[in-house]
Amino acid sequence: MNRNTKQRRALREVIEENDRPLSPPELLALASVKVDGLGIATVYRTIKSLLEDGALAQVDLPGEPPRYELPGKSMNHHFQCETCRKVFDAPGHLDAPQTLAPFEFSVSDYSLMLYGTCKDCLATSATK
Ligand SMILES: [Zn+2]
Repeated sequence: MNRNTKQRRALREVIEENDRPLSPPELLALASVKVDGLGIATVYRTIKSLLEDGALAQVDLPGEPPRYELPGKSMNHHFQCETCRKVFDAPGHLDAPQTLAPFEFSVSDYSLMLYGTCKDCLATSATK
């Protein structure tokens, strides 16, 4: 197995295990446990190659560096923890997004960003 295959598999595994959109630094931190000597340049290169193969989907969030997750499961809605800055998929949906738009505007799509505190950070702050 060549190095590239190993890195691709490690990144895929990390994304599957974490089940939330991950930034390149998060991918590096999580995948370097699986691949010795992994660097950020390699992570970016591997992301690019996975994107080209359709094995990864990019998640763009306002004012944030892109995150990456498995294709097809990407949701329009995300939750960002204001404490740890992690981003999670948010399963909910709006019944009537049209009602949020300016009068007489037509809504064709929407994406929602929720902010707050994630489960882990809530648990950590409760034990302090
Ligand atoms: Zn958090």
